[in-house]
Amino acid sequence: MVKPKKHLGQHFLKEQSTAKNIADSLTGFGGYKHILEIGPGTGVLTQYLAERHNQTLWMIEVDPDSIAYLETRFPQATENLIEGDFLTWDISVIPSSFAIIGNLPYNISSQIFFKVLDLQQQIPEMVCMLQKEVARRLVSAPGNKAYGILSVLLQAFYKLEYLFEVKPECFYPPPKVDSAVIRLQNLGKSRLECDEVLFRRLVKQGFQNRRKTLRNALKAFNLPQEVRALELLDRRAEQLGVEDYVTLTKSVTPFWNP
Ligand code: SAH
Repeated sequence: MVKPKKHLGQHFLKEQSTAKNIADSLTGFGGYKHILEIGPGTGVLTQYLAERHNQTLWMIEVDPDSIAYLETRFPQATENLIEGDFLTWDISVIPSSFAIIGNLPYNISSQIFFKVLDLQQQIPEMVCMLQKEVARRLVSAPGNKAYGILSVLLQAFYKLEYLFEVKPECFYPPPKVDSAVIRLQNLGKSRLECDEVLFRRLVKQGFQNRRKTLRNALKAFNLPQEVRALELLDRRAEQLGVEDYVTLTKSVTPFWNP
């Protein structure tokens, strides 16, 4: 067996039925032919994913001990077993669109989502387990305290669903936090109807000062009076939905010098 390493966020799922539920939560939405598992560890999810014969399974795992174990457990799948860091790995190795699945290393889950956002056109569906509070935040709606930067950015491109929760006892070793499984399905917009770089900047800047009205939070943009007068700017970052941010971005674009 593989000795769990804390710095890699290794908490191995013990419960087979939960593992099967997670694997079964990938619906095939968008018709992808490839699945990428992030952090297969000792392969508890992998065993169910490897049974899906109409899809090719890829795995990326950073831990050499887990890699060695997986090579003996799934000899038929080693060709697509990559030893590496998902955050820096060049995804273009996978030839077409793919789904992502994983019981994520919780300490880097936000960074994983930022990478998913960069690649969203290639990723029709994602199912993952992460810390419950983070999962709640991602799926929460505007006006909610938990709503944050990644909620807006992910909801701009994906439909998000909170599927089920998993207790610490289901893992070895048990994590200090509760876990939850979410599903993301691409809305198929391909692009937003506005400048996406500016959209991201406005969302980030707004939430960095989430207690202020957007008029104050966005001071650094030096917006002209005609934009400053917008009613949307009376509100705070957490009160705007994706469409509001698109509207705001369009209004700011003519006055923005990157
Ligand atoms: N899927 C397994 C393990 C989950 S723990 C299970 O459910 O039991 C998270 C896994 O992600 C660990 O195996 C860890 O080694 C791996 N991991 C951590 N950081 C990673 C990274 N940057 N890229 C790929 N895998 C990573």
